[in-house]
Amino acid sequence: MSASAPQTAAGWHARAAAFAPAGDLFIDGDFCPAASGDRFETVNPATGAVLAAVARGGPADVDRAVASGRAAFRGGAWSRCQPRQRMAVLGRFADLIERHAAEFALTDTLDMGKPVTEMMVVDVPLAVLCLRFTAECIDKMQGSVGMTGQDVLSYVLRQPLGVVGCIVPWNYPLLMTIWKIAPALAAGNSVVLKPAEQSPLSALLLARLFMEAGGPAGVLNVVTGFGPEAGMPLALHGDVEKIAFTGSAEIGKLMLVYAGQSNMKKVATECGGKSPHVVMADAPDLEKAAEWAAMGIFGNQGEVCCAGSRLIVERAVADEFTALLKEKALRNHVPGDPLDPATTMGPLVDRGQQKRVLSYIAAGLEGGAACALGGGVPAGLEAGAYVSPTIFTGVDNSMRIAREEIFGPVVSVLTVDSLDEAIAVANDSPFGLAAGIWTGDLGKAHRFARDVEAGMVYVNSYMNGDMQMPFGGWKESGNGRDKCMDSLLSYTQTKGVWVTFE
Ligand code: ADP
Repeated sequence: MSASAPQTAAGWHARAAAFAPAGDLFIDGDFCPAASGDRFETVNPATGAVLAAVARGGPADVDRAVASGRAAFRGGAWSRCQPRQRMAVLGRFADLIERHAAEFALTDTLDMGKPVTEMMVVDVPLAVLCLRFTAECIDKMQGSVGMTGQDVLSYVLRQPLGVVGCIVPWNYPLLMTIWKIAPALAAGNSVVLKPAEQSPLSALLLARLFMEAGGPAGVLNVVTGFGPEAGMPLALHGDVEKIAFTGSAEIGKLMLVYAGQSNMKKVATECGGKSPHVVMADAPDLEKAAEWAAMGIFGNQGEVCCAGSRLIVERAVADEFTALLKEKALRNHVPGDPLDPATTMGPLVDRGQQKRVLSYIAAGLEGGAACALGGGVPAGLEAGAYVSPTIFTGVDNSMRIAREEIFGPVVSVLTVDSLDEAIAVANDSPFGLAAGIWTGDLGKAHRFARDVEAGMVYVNSYMNGDMQMPFGGWKESGNGRDKCMDSLLSYTQTKGVWVTFE
């Protein structure tokens, strides 16, 4: 596919009509079917149409992929090559992703439903940026030399781990994958990637481009398939040194169990949240706050780990803010055909997720919350897995819709009377991924940033950031950190070497 992206819905639909993705596993530098020969269908959630029959990987495939990764690692062509060589390959990999931007955009849009424009302006550029940043960090990592006594030299080497298993979700198929594989590969590891069963296709395109960029065979393997069939054997594998996981807290906890049941591999988890987004009465610009709040929960259909799903608003401005929030939702987040470049909101990833989100809406109503906007499937879009932007007011923090991660376009508005109360409500959650506050008072902003239990805090914006900032959570939102230099270091281990002169 050419690099230029269509500018119209008709143009994207023409590309979609010719869409013929790879659907095999990628092991040891080649596409191959699953050992069992089994396949599963991946479906376009906007229409229900089957996109591809994808190889259904199982334990035998995982074994082969891990063996290939281990052989490549021990061979040293990647794990021990000159840093500049690895940087060059990852640089070319980034260039290729950029050149194939339209193909990635089409692939993830068809596979999981997000608007194609979002792919073009968010997912693809951020994936390229992550890869470039991480590649640039490779020769900035250093070991150290100890201040030991005479006739002794002690030094600390920083070395890759071995085979890393990356188990990723479906909400940002390309971007979440790059957040894991970029640092894993940059540090010199081999990777076995298990994409989500709902969105397996862009991972296969990535594997092909990695080879085209000059990556050695066996260094990046992809085993498509279901969690218990392909993900579990990977996480239990004795020759896998680390699992890098993003997904639900329920499965994140299992990763820790699997590590304990096998080889005590390192486990890095990012498990979503129920992030508090606070609006104080002294917010400098309530309209801007409402715009970001709407983006923070309705962007990407609300299928965002750090979505600001609990809006904690000071009572004095609650009515005004809720009215503005409705207005922004209606204007900026309109469900439609994700292949239309003008569309701002697509369907959810599949019918199962739609059902789950609708059941939370029912739970909100049963719990006594008031539905101020949305609350169902948008008219005319019944053929897809759509849910309208939904706002609940009158929510108490003990309600299910305020405690559990919905992972859809549903926000709870809670009212409070002070900053202290806002912080108490914010922290009354098992999760701790992101938090935001809108205030014109510097003291309040810093106090909130200090006291809120979250891995990321935004003051007077939301979900901002750049590659230098760590992305990860506290509490049940997980223990890993993506992006940033720390992420790269987390795919290495140290080795102390003690040399006695004699
Ligand atoms: P979600 O609820 O967002 O779909 P999950 O946590 O179920 O998230 O899935 C995230 C990733 O974990 C996916 O790639 C999925 O296939 C994988 N997965 C699910 N269950 C397991 C499991 N038991 N073992 C290993 N991986 C799993």
